[in-house]
Amino acid sequence: MARVSGKVAIVTGASLGIGRATALLLAREGAKVAVADLKEDEGRAVVSEIEAAGGEALFVPLDVSREDDWTRAIATVLARFGRLDIAVNNAGIAWSGTVETTSLDDWRRVQSINLDGVFLGTKAAVAAMKDHGGSIINLSSIEGLVGDPTLAAYNASKGGVRLFTKSAALHCARSGYRIRVNSVHPGYIWTPMVQGLTAETPDQAAFRARLEALHPVGHLGEANDIAFGILYLASDESKFMTGSELVIDGGYTAQ
Ligand code: NAD
Repeated sequence: MARVSGKVAIVTGASLGIGRATALLLAREGAKVAVADLKEDEGRAVVSEIEAAGGEALFVPLDVSREDDWTRAIATVLARFGRLDIAVNNAGIAWSGTVETTSLDDWRRVQSINLDGVFLGTKAAVAAMKDHGGSIINLSSIEGLVGDPTLAAYNASKGGVRLFTKSAALHCARSGYRIRVNSVHPGYIWTPMVQGLTAETPDQAAFRARLEALHPVGHLGEANDIAFGILYLASDESKFMTGSELVIDGGYTAQ
């Protein structure tokens, strides 16, 4: 089945984790994929994997927090593939700290990647898609829905992504652009991001067990659990969906 056949996608943070799984899955389902990330070696490996499977892909160097990078990245995608139909604003960083322990510099760094990056990516994608339509998918989190005392800056960034997505969705719908904008809210997924958080704790097994226990299904998610949701939002199967939240969290926020 080729659920996004003929479409062109850009996926940010596509060198690792959820972004990597998403780039591979979109390519498997027929999309041409721009793999956009700071990490070039890992990103080129994703491109090679797509090409080895018979797909088309391109590595695009991108720091999502820089507007000039976005201008260059979209121009590169349009020059190579001629159009843009799907933008997955996935790049993000985790940061642990309470309201008391988070410095203003740390706060601003998290917002610049997690929130400014999504704003700039959405703005650039709307400009590239407004003549023909498309789907924009923004990675929020369970942490954009409920609070965690140890994730002050991350909570704020992901809550911002959730409501910014609705604003952009309404603007596009009311402007007649045929661009849909939705947010995705994963629970804890076993990616390099969460592996990094685990590695920082003295008792890693106990930390992982504590994370697992937060999910009523009793385990963490895998990158593909989220990629399949993103594929649905990217495809025309979700054509009546905009300004919505796709929660994929093993029951974390159902409690
Ligand atoms: P990850 O750390 O495993 O991978 C993130 C990728 O983003 C890396 O390839 C990294 O190089 C890239 N990146 C980081 N900063 C960048 C920048 N400024 N410009 C371009 N690329 C940059 O992360 P992941 O777990 O795959 O998370 C992906 C997204 O999903 C993030 O937005 C994260 O907040 C969100 N999320 C993750 C989880 C989880 O449990 N893993 C849960 C909820 C939401």
